[in-house]
Amino acid sequence: MGATTTPTPDEFETEVRTFFDGVPALLDRCDGSRTDRARAYRAALFDAGLAGIGYPLKYGGRGLGEEYQAVFRQVATPLQPPEESTFGIGVGMALPTILEYGSDELKARLLPSGLRGEEIWCQLYSEPGAGSDLAGLTCKAERDGDEWIITGQKLWTSGAQHADLGILIARTDPDAPKHAGITMFVLPMNQPSVEVRPLVQMTGVAEFNEVFMDEARCPADWIVGEVNHGWRLATALLAHERTSLGKGQMTKHTERSKAGRFPIPFEGLLDRADWAGRRDHPVIRQQLAQAYIGEKIIPWLAARQQHPSLGKLWRTIQGRLAADTAHELGGGVAIAWEEDDTEADYFAYHVLNCRGMSLGGGTDEVQKNTLGERVLGLPREPGPDKNTPFRDLLRN
Ligand SMILES: Cc1cc2nc3c(=O)[nH]c(=O)nc-3n(C[C@H](O)[C@H](O)[C@H](O)COP(=O)(O)OP(=O)(O)OC[C@H]3O[C@@H](n4cnc5c(N)ncnc54)[C@H](O)[C@@H]3O)c2cc1C
Repeated sequence: MGATTTPTPDEFETEVRTFFDGVPALLDRCDGSRTDRARAYRAALFDAGLAGIGYPLKYGGRGLGEEYQAVFRQVATPLQPPEESTFGIGVGMALPTILEYGSDELKARLLPSGLRGEEIWCQLYSEPGAGSDLAGLTCKAERDGDEWIITGQKLWTSGAQHADLGILIARTDPDAPKHAGITMFVLPMNQPSVEVRPLVQMTGVAEFNEVFMDEARCPADWIVGEVNHGWRLATALLAHERTSLGKGQMTKHTERSKAGRFPIPFEGLLDRADWAGRRDHPVIRQQLAQAYIGEKIIPWLAARQQHPSLGKLWRTIQGRLAADTAHELGGGVAIAWEEDDTEADYFAYHVLNCRGMSLGGGTDEVQKNTLGERVLGLPREPGPDKNTPFRDLLRN
């Protein structure tokens, strides 16, 4: 673990930079799979005392305030290896929710190992009939002695094929109104009654999955917060998701982003325009200028810490603009490219994958509804009576 005395912010910045100077060599030494490299990186980050800057020391964090977290974000964001995305759901969403709402036992069990990358997480929220209308979920959990028995289907579960644990929301009281009978669980994924079926996307990669649970088991005390009070936690986790998506981290433009959910950086578009010999074309110049402006706005929105939906929405708009520009510049190569042409592969991957940015973490329309209702104070969408038991509601 790192230093025991509190460094000054300048000393801390040097410490973070020194750590990241060593990361390329660390990854070179690891000749295993992408997941092995991801775990090696995260373990080194943890051992250096940099895995959870704001987390308490007893959970493996550093116990430092927002000033230090901002220093870490600023230095680390451009230097983090793409493998870090393996922990996006755990470190970015599940662990902060458990830190805020979990029992002391759950925190002691899950936070240190999660920060160290020993467990990979997935998010078991969406269902075939419950995406935007998430509170309409029907996956059910029933208490049986010292376990919960969980039965239902989840959909679009990113990374479930690699996950050790899932942050799951399930219905625990169908007689309660729609939002009132939901509980948040931590589900061990490696059990026979959890079946993960990968879904291959048009990129050719299976990033997400269907997950079938047929009487899957979860220890009785692996619930986050209280039974039937999970909806507030579910939305708190979504806020963490939208905040981290809204930061719109830029990958280096020559890297094929397996996560594929970040806008192509302006610098990459400029190179592509040079490659196509079209940097001076008036329409392309206009698009490049828009892409430049949009890219500048992303960190400014994040710095102003406005509503998470705003950053998320802007990021998806930028993602589509950048991908459409790359598509136009790519010509035939945008849809038919040589396998060993890594740059064409990178751009084509983004063009195909960027539409998903507008869906994952809540669609653009849902972000606009949220902003309209919660920020602008517009009237709420009409919905069912808030007191009607869930089992009496009309469903998809
Ligand atoms: C890349 C990617 C990764 C994902 N990863 C995960 C994951 O790890 N875990 C997980 O649980 N889920 C995940 N999802 C699922 C994602 O959260 C859902 O796709 C999303 O919430 C939309 O739900 P849906 O697909 O059921 O669409 P629907 O909710 O059926 O929406 C269909 C269309 O109707 C519109 N619409 C719906 N309701 C309204 C409304 N009230 N007002 C206006 N328009 C509306 C939507 O905007 C959309 O255009 C992922 C999705 C993608 C694309």
